[in-house]
Amino acid sequence: MRSKQLYINTIGCQMNVYDANQIAGVLAPLGYTGTDAIESADMVVVNTCTIREKAEQKAFSFLGRLAKSKKDNPAMIIAVGGCVAQQEGQAILQRMPHVDLVFGTHAIFRLPEMVRRIEASRCRIVDVRLSETIEIDDPTVGSLVDGQVAAFVTIMRGCDNYCTYCVVPHVRGREASRRPDRIVDEIRLLVAEGIREVTLLGQNVNSYGDKEGLCTFTELLERVNAIDRLGRIRFTTSHPKDLSEDLMRAFGRLEKLCRHIHLPVQSGDDEILRRMNRKYTRADYLNKIERLRKVCPEIAVTSDFIVGFPGETERQFQRTLDLIETVRYDGLFAFMYSDRPLAPASAFSAKIGDAVKKERLQALLDLQETITREKHADMVGRILRVLVEGTSRDVDLPGSADQSRNIRWTGRSSSNHIIHFSAPQEGSPEKEVLTGKFADIMIEGAYAHSLWGRMVDRSEGSTSEKGEASIAA
Ligand code: SF4
Repeated sequence: MRSKQLYINTIGCQMNVYDANQIAGVLAPLGYTGTDAIESADMVVVNTCTIREKAEQKAFSFLGRLAKSKKDNPAMIIAVGGCVAQQEGQAILQRMPHVDLVFGTHAIFRLPEMVRRIEASRCRIVDVRLSETIEIDDPTVGSLVDGQVAAFVTIMRGCDNYCTYCVVPHVRGREASRRPDRIVDEIRLLVAEGIREVTLLGQNVNSYGDKEGLCTFTELLERVNAIDRLGRIRFTTSHPKDLSEDLMRAFGRLEKLCRHIHLPVQSGDDEILRRMNRKYTRADYLNKIERLRKVCPEIAVTSDFIVGFPGETERQFQRTLDLIETVRYDGLFAFMYSDRPLAPASAFSAKIGDAVKKERLQALLDLQETITREKHADMVGRILRVLVEGTSRDVDLPGSADQSRNIRWTGRSSSNHIIHFSAPQEGSPEKEVLTGKFADIMIEGAYAHSLWGRMVDRSEGSTSEKGEASIAA
C-alpha cells in the first residue's frame, strides 16, 4: 500500500486533541501517516472548535487558505471535523468548494469508509449523524510522539447540562459513557507504549456511567489506579453540582490521582449562575472547595470564568472578583462572553459591550496574577516531585551557575505546575536520561506561569509529596 501523508490541524480543547489522535489511528490502516508539511499532504483534516467565536473564525480562516493548496495539489483531500463541522454540516460544502468531506463529532469511526469513497470517486460527503450511544468503542492508541509521556483518554462524550451559553450539548450530543473495561484496556495499551500519565476526559466526568448503569467515576478511578506502571491520573472536567463526597475523598486515598482539580465556576454571583443554568450557588461551590481542602489540604484548584455574560452588572462582576479572592485559585482560564449559534443566551437581552468586557477580563486576570505570584513565592524552598516531559532548551534558569554543563528539563508537579530545572549532563542521549521519570526538584524561583529549580536528592529536604506512585520508567 502506498504511504500517504496526513496533516491534522487541531483547534480547541483536549477533547479535540484526543479526537485528532483517534483520527490518525483510524486512518493508519489506509496508509496515512502524520506529516508537518501541509503542501505535500495527501489529506488535510481541520479539527474545529465552536465554543467561542474566535475559535470558529480561526477554523474558517485556515480552511480559506487551503483553497490555494488544493489548487496546487488537486488530489489533496480536505476534510473538516469537530464542532464547527457538526454545527454547520452541508453549509461548509456550499461555502467552501475545495472541501471534500465534513464529518461530525460522532463520525470518526466512519471516516475510513468515507475516505475510501472519496479516493475512489472524488465525491463530496457530509456525515453529521449523532447517536445516543457509543456504537464503536475500540481501545485506540493512535499516533504517539517519540518521548511522549502523557496522554488523554476520553471516557465519555456529550453533555446533558445545557448551560445557556454553551453549544456542547448541541454539537457533541447527549451524554454517553464508554465501558470501563475498554477504557482500562486503552490505558494499558498506552502504558505499554511508554505513557506514564493519563488525563481522563469528559464534559462532566462526575456523571460518568450514570445513564448506562456502569460503575461510578470514583470506581473507574480505582480501576485505573490499579494499572501497573501507570504513574499518574488526572481528569477534566468536573461540574461542581455533581462533585460527589465519594470523589472528593478519592483525592485523599488514591495514590496515583494527582492533587489538582479543575472546577469551573464561571461566575461568583448567584443570579448570573441561575441564568447560566449552572444549578449550584456560590455557597454550594465554596462549600465543596472547603470539603476538598479538608480531605486533601495540598490540592491545587483551578477554574474557568466567563465575564460579560448578558446583563452582568458591575456589582455582580465584583462578586466574581470576590470569589477569586476567597478561593485563591492556583490558576484560571477566563473568557469574554460571546454569542454562539444554538446557545439560548444568544437570545438574552442586555448584552455587555466589548469595552466593558475587555476591562472586566483584564481586572480579573490582574487579580489572579497577583494571587499566582504570591502562591508561587510560597512554593520557593519546597521540594516537588515532577514527571519529566522533556528538555526545555529555550528557558533560562536564573541562578544555574554553569548552564553549558547542565541540561534544562521540563516537567509537571502533581499540582499541575510546570517546573523547569537543570540537571548535570551525562554521557547518554538527553531524552534517555530523564524523560518519563520522576525527579525531585527544589523550587528556587518563579516565572509568571511556571516555576524553576534544581534536581535534588529527596533526603535534602521536605516530606514526600502525594499524588504519585514511585515508579521509575
Ligand atoms: S456542563 Fe455546561 S459548559 Fe460544560 S459542556 Fe455541558 S453545557 Fe457546556
